[in-house]
This record gives sequence, C-alpha cells and structure tokens, in this order.
Amino acid sequence: MRLVLVGPPGAGKGTQAQYIASNLSIPKISTGDIFRANVSGGTDLGKLAKTYMDRGDLVPDEVTIAMVRDRLSEDDAQDGFLLDGFPRNVAQAEILRDMLKDWGQALDLVLELVVDDDEVVRRLAGRRTCSQCGRIWHVEFDDKKDDRCDACGGALFQRDDDKEETVRHRLEVYQEQTAPLVSYYADEGILVGVDATGPVEEVTQRAMDAIRPFMG
Ligand SMILES: [Zn+2]
Repeated sequence: MRLVLVGPPGAGKGTQAQYIASNLSIPKISTGDIFRANVSGGTDLGKLAKTYMDRGDLVPDEVTIAMVRDRLSEDDAQDGFLLDGFPRNVAQAEILRDMLKDWGQALDLVLELVVDDDEVVRRLAGRRTCSQCGRIWHVEFDDKKDDRCDACGGALFQRDDDKEETVRHRLEVYQEQTAPLVSYYADEGILVGVDATGPVEEVTQRAMDAIRPFMG
C-alpha cells in the first residue's frame, strides 16, 4: 500500500499517520523525520540542507525531493509507505509520480483528513501551555477553569501559534497550498476524504475503512 496523508494543522495528522502506518505494517515517512535523520546523520544532503537552515532560508525543493527519493529507495519502503508532509504542491506530486513510475510503482491512495475550520480553531485556540513545565492543557477538553497548571502550579499562557488569528491564517495558507494538490489527486481518482472529528480511535477506524477497498 503506497499512500499519502494530507490534512490541515490541528487535524491530528501526525498521530493518524502513526496509527495507520502501524495498522498497515508500512513505514511512516514524514519530511520532518527525513530532515532530522539526514542532518543528524551528517549525509551530504543533510549538510547541504543545513547550510540553508543555518542562514534561515527555506531548503530548496530539489534537496527535499532528493531526500525523499533516498528514503523511498530504502528496503523497508519497497512494499509500501505512508508519506506525511510530501508532496506539498502539484509540482512535487508530479515529480513523485514520475519517480515511482521509474520504479514500476504508483500511489494507491491519497487520504485527506477533513476537519471544519471552526473545529480546528476550537482545538488549537483552546490550548494553554504551562510556563514552568511546558505541559499543554485545553480550556474545554481538560475543563480548565483557572490559569494554573494542575501538575506543577505554573502559570498557563496561550502560545502565539495557538492564537485564533494565527490559526485562521495558517488554515488559509494550508487551503491555498493544498486545494490544487487535492484536486490533482481527485482527478487521478485516488483521493478519499475522511472525517477527522471525534476520538482518535474512531478517526483511525474510519481511515482504515476508507483504505480497505484500495488494498490489492
Ligand atoms: Zn506545569
């Protein structure tokens, strides 16, 4: 099973990626993990990527693509994989398609986690971080009535990233970048949307139900 997982910030994509990959016994391949592995392993690509990051620049597409190519060539990815964080745009999707084609492979499925914008705001903007121990609480889900950490008594604050305005902006950026990618895969006939609201286990179950018909 070769699949790509897409979803907005706050959709629980990282968690679902892990559960789905482990249910299918395939490696979860995220661009974040690939980056860290290359940089800490001191590979040529890692060193190259680091020169950009040290300058505060974005790592160019070619470097990311080369890292993904290397990772997908490894033994454990030959019978399938779950990609998280790649491709980010249609150009990268076309490169991935050609890369797989060269190897006689193709994507089976693109799973889109679907969450309402207001639900994402509710999840993220309700988060409060402890200024002492770093633990995260949720005003609604943890029924937090005061602004003190239950674990250490430290003062809670709202990270800038979690402010409603910032969350809404991140969602806009996501929609702008991802909408063309999602319609590209819809045209290819391999896109399936999964409702990502509700408990984590239920979302995983829904995802597995959506995947099953595509399994060879
Ligand atoms: Zn604390």
